[in-house]
Amino acid sequence: MKFVYDFAEGNKDLKDLLGGKGANLAEMTNLGLPVPPGFTITTEACQQYLRNGTHVDGLAAEIDAHLAALEEKMGRRLGDPADPLLVSVRSGAKFSMPGMMETVLNVGLNDESVDGLSRQAGGNDRFAWDSYRRLIQMFGKTVCEVPGHEFEKALDDAKAAKGVRDDVQLDADDLRALVTAYKKVFAKHTGHDFPQDPREQLDLATEAVFRSWNADRAVLYRRQERIPTDLGTAVNVVAMVFGNLGADSGTGVAFTRDPATGEQGVYGDYLSNAQGEDVVAGIRNTLPLADLERLDKRSYDELMQIMATLEGHYRDLCDIEFTIERGKLWMLQTRVGKRTAAAAFTIAAQLVDEGVIDLDEALHRVSGAQLAQLMFPRFDLSSAPEAMTRGIGASPGAAYGQVVFTSARAVEVAATGAPVILVRRETNPDDLPGMIAANGILTSRGGKTSHAAVVARGMGKTCVCGADEMEVSTSSFTIGSVTVREGETISIDGTTGRVYAGEVPVRPSEVVQYFEGDLDPANANDPLVAAVHRILTHADEKRSLKVRTNADTGPDAARARRFGAQGIGLCRTEHMFLGDRRELVERLILARTEAERNEALAGLQPLQRADFLEIFREMNGLPVTIRLIDPPLHEFLPSLEELAVKVAVAHEHGRRVEHDEQMLAAVRRMHEQNPMLGLRGVRLGLVIPGLFAMQVRAIAEAAVALAAEGGRPRPEIMVPLVGAVQELETVRTEAEKIIATIVGDTNVDILIGTMIEVPRAALTAGQIAEAAEFFSFGTNDLTQMAWGFSRDDVEGAFFWRYLELGIFGISPFESIDADGVGRLVRIAAEEGRAARPGLKLGVCGEHGGDPDSVHFFHEVGLDYVSCSPFRVPIARLEAGRAAV
Ligand code: PEP
Ligand code: MG
Repeated sequence: MKFVYDFAEGNKDLKDLLGGKGANLAEMTNLGLPVPPGFTITTEACQQYLRNGTHVDGLAAEIDAHLAALEEKMGRRLGDPADPLLVSVRSGAKFSMPGMMETVLNVGLNDESVDGLSRQAGGNDRFAWDSYRRLIQMFGKTVCEVPGHEFEKALDDAKAAKGVRDDVQLDADDLRALVTAYKKVFAKHTGHDFPQDPREQLDLATEAVFRSWNADRAVLYRRQERIPTDLGTAVNVVAMVFGNLGADSGTGVAFTRDPATGEQGVYGDYLSNAQGEDVVAGIRNTLPLADLERLDKRSYDELMQIMATLEGHYRDLCDIEFTIERGKLWMLQTRVGKRTAAAAFTIAAQLVDEGVIDLDEALHRVSGAQLAQLMFPRFDLSSAPEAMTRGIGASPGAAYGQVVFTSARAVEVAATGAPVILVRRETNPDDLPGMIAANGILTSRGGKTSHAAVVARGMGKTCVCGADEMEVSTSSFTIGSVTVREGETISIDGTTGRVYAGEVPVRPSEVVQYFEGDLDPANANDPLVAAVHRILTHADEKRSLKVRTNADTGPDAARARRFGAQGIGLCRTEHMFLGDRRELVERLILARTEAERNEALAGLQPLQRADFLEIFREMNGLPVTIRLIDPPLHEFLPSLEELAVKVAVAHEHGRRVEHDEQMLAAVRRMHEQNPMLGLRGVRLGLVIPGLFAMQVRAIAEAAVALAAEGGRPRPEIMVPLVGAVQELETVRTEAEKIIATIVGDTNVDILIGTMIEVPRAALTAGQIAEAAEFFSFGTNDLTQMAWGFSRDDVEGAFFWRYLELGIFGISPFESIDADGVGRLVRIAAEEGRAARPGLKLGVCGEHGGDPDSVHFFHEVGLDYVSCSPFRVPIARLEAGRAAV
């Protein structure tokens, strides 16, 4: 196995092996751009090192050979006392993990070569000793785990002794003395002297970079970003170039376009006489990149030329790190640059206009997650104050409200109608009522997988977490000298993680206005709306998956249609049994005779018919899947505790409350230990005479009514929670009889199918398909029953811990568990279609609107996904991306 690649041997497609940085350094080298020479040690070497815990066979010999070639190219030997070659040892994994792993600069310096470096720099002793002390500090911290603050203290002592405040005020002699102090710190902590052998420095630094893959912060970052744990990092050994050699040197970063808007131009920062870490540390203010033209026209012109080359080559926005050493420009890094969601769409559309990419490629350059971000209302920041602080944007949205510090208080204040922001150090399952009541949640601890973040995302509630500058108590929080007390108003942005004092006005998203039909993409002066329109239209042309919506009211159906829904995939009829209809449902449940039950059903039927007619009208010409009632009926009755207390109190006062007593008896009778596994779905239809029949009749009558108006109804009746074909057959036989009497010889056609949401249904799909004209995967229940997780309880109870431990990277209720639940879907799709060719297949669980899941359903070959109206455009986009 080959472990080391010269830059000239690699290319940009070898990111798995060379990491992102190494692959792009190789690509730039091969483009003939000025990259300091070097080589990359592969991620495979890192994996072997981490597995063995010690050295990797054959690696040292390969490094010898590549180092010799590097020395030859540079005309210098590593650490040569007279004229040393120095190298940087830099981490670089396949996926960018900014600042998570280690880098050691100036490797090759020792007590002798420091003088050689000074000579190379034209007798610049100060520079040489400063480089040496930086090496000991970085090497000590990174390689030998010497506490960083010990070095910082020695540096502070040196400045205090001299009576200066700034590092740059220390001269060569001060820095020489500081090196002595640093060496003492090093020896005290490691029990040995700072290694003088340059090659030993290189090997130890390389191993330290390998090990940094498993540093706590890197592990945490990977878990949050869902980066696999076994990739390992590559190590780049690069000849040092120095931006801190005087006024004709410097360092900077640049973008080939504005990463916020996508506009072309000169974007970046430059700092003269500095090294990269000075820019990051913010020691001095940087200059806008355009100023470099004035300072060093030749380097500026060359940089512009290189940026154009890189954009042309990568066909995308690139970001760049560069250094100028005494008027000579060097490229230290490039990569396809990160960008905002808005910029992703506008840049992709611009590149299509410029003929750089085609629309298929543009589709790959954007994502459903980015489109989702563009659909949230946003703060109007034109009149907003500076942010007070910033945490992690854990669940998107813009929320403001009165600050409260306990769950109970959140519930109380929200009950008055006032918007509330619940602020906690961290949340736990006891905070759930407050989180439900609040408009937004803000915590000072925890990351994207903390309890607060997971629960808030599950609820679609705005959340900022880990705002660690905040000190949170039970009645206030403080940031520096500012204190915010209960009752004061703040605003939180769940996308950027910013927190503002007071109420920041919220404005609706332009993208949603466009979907609503309020903004014409052709007239809009807004390049973002035009870009979204263009890319989404292309997705529609390419996708094979249809996109339907889950909706159970006319207005929801109408909105979803405006958003591009091609029908309804799930109309949950139980939502039509609430409000003032509850009384009729109660009568149905309490009925003691057939006559009483029929009377209650007769009361419900015209209401249901009107509901269905409204929805059929809105979806005229498109399929509408109506699910027969699913939840246990006692969900429509008052709670057992409430009733028991009410009746007991009445009895205490010597009063009889006949209705409540009857109700209590019924609730007791119907009580189930595990209602989710109890009398629900198809079981209700089999046990309660007339219930499903009433719904089937209402559906058929509504369809006939629309057809009589000249419309084109396309109803599909769906039976929930089926586990055996016999259940479905029983319901089907009865339904067909009813439909035949109502539809007669009109041209109304009604399909009958089933949900697949019980594992047994998936496993016997071949049999079930005999009685079903369509399947719709209810992946919420299918996930619940495949994992044995209660979908109503687990998210707040223990998922945060599962995510923390990496048992799964995302809740299986959010994104389909392809290996387990997905396998059931695959089996059912294959066996269902084998039994009934042309069987229509869809999904209507929450996963229907999740980007990764949409790709999975495309691959399995479903006909459609169905999701909430707001996720329809996201599913359209992802279905298009899955198809190209
Ligand atoms: C499902 O189980 O996936 C489903 C869509 O039904 P519900 O969420 O109503 O149980
Ligand atoms: Mg279900």
